[in-house]
Amino acid sequence: MSPTIIRNEVSIVRFSRNVDSLVPSATLALRARAKRMQAEGHSVIDLSAGEPSFATPAVATEAALRSIHDGRGTGYPPTPGVPELREAAARYVEETTAHPSEDAAVLVSAGVKQALFNLAYCLFEDGDEVLVPAPYWPTYLAVVELAGAAPVVVPTPWQRAFRIDLEELERLRTPRTRGLFLNSPANPSGHVYDRGLLEDLCAWAARNDIWILSDEIYRRLYYRGEAAPSVFDVPERSHKVVLLDGVSKTFSMPGWRIGFAVAPPELIGKASALQSQTTSGAAGPSQYAAAGVISSPERERIIAQFKEVLDRRRRAAVAGLRGIAGLDVAEPEGAIYLYVRLTDAEESAAAAESLLVDSGVACVPGEAFGTPGFLRLNYSVDDAELEEGIARIAAHFGG
Ligand code: PLP
Repeated sequence: MSPTIIRNEVSIVRFSRNVDSLVPSATLALRARAKRMQAEGHSVIDLSAGEPSFATPAVATEAALRSIHDGRGTGYPPTPGVPELREAAARYVEETTAHPSEDAAVLVSAGVKQALFNLAYCLFEDGDEVLVPAPYWPTYLAVVELAGAAPVVVPTPWQRAFRIDLEELERLRTPRTRGLFLNSPANPSGHVYDRGLLEDLCAWAARNDIWILSDEIYRRLYYRGEAAPSVFDVPERSHKVVLLDGVSKTFSMPGWRIGFAVAPPELIGKASALQSQTTSGAAGPSQYAAAGVISSPERERIIAQFKEVLDRRRRAAVAGLRGIAGLDVAEPEGAIYLYVRLTDAEESAAAAESLLVDSGVACVPGEAFGTPGFLRLNYSVDDAELEEGIARIAAHFGG
């Protein structure tokens, strides 16, 4: 018998309140649909996923294989992560930020996604409010809601490059505000917070006793320098500032599922306890793979090589779409996406659907990120695919 639990569209399961409003990740669902269409024989260029196209760096694969052969990676790992990776991540943050935390611990999880869930679950609860700037990566809303708290969306205007306005934050702050998510370089817009803004945000959060969860997974994919500014570049900040990073984007290793959080030891201890009762931690060989690449002398060369290719694709995508009537293309400073504004439409779900069905290009509509009227395109796909995708989009909109 099929394991399906939905019959005739009427659910036979009464779900708990914990997951009542939970929906699958829109980007993963779109990706699955694009793959299904490809399997059915349709020609689909998939620009929907948030996945760099590079192979895993050899140093990472070799480190994983060594850990399998010698047995270090195949037993239960310590719940918060193997010492090699926790130390490598701490050193990496130390080497790449101006004012790393002196009293902080590292938790390794199955991707930044799991680390975010753990932290949100440990920090927020029923009655709490957590500020999430839009456009946002949808998981921020989901993890806040799973913790029983309420996400409060902070609008940021595209006319000002999606910059957070402190007055807007202040307007939305209530006595129940407990947290603020930051994501720079941002998914989906690619915009980057400058150091001055991060200083202001840290000062504002400290004044109001608010946690900052800073998702810096794209920090090294920054096209104006080595690394985008980090909350750990801010010298004056409270201990309630958490940095999250991982290997999915910078090292093109999303399938290895490794992310980490750097936070006060007490918080890491509780998040690790939660992890010990849920997943027991991230997979051992993956942890050794991540430690291998993060602590490798080749690390910076690998990042520079990836970035050179990504930058070329970024420029090609911007150049290919600029000047097309109905599309407003801003040049992103970081990450791996173009966030294209539809100048004549308030919404973008229908445009994304028609682009997929009529012209065979999968992208994610801005509705998924809380800002209808935009299309998110991942430009970190192979060159030939990108060229074909851009040509199809240009033909689709340009007539
Ligand atoms: N944070 C942001 C902003 C992302 O865009 C993504 C993936 O798309 C993640 C986190 C997920 O990271 P991980 O693969 O480490 O779970």
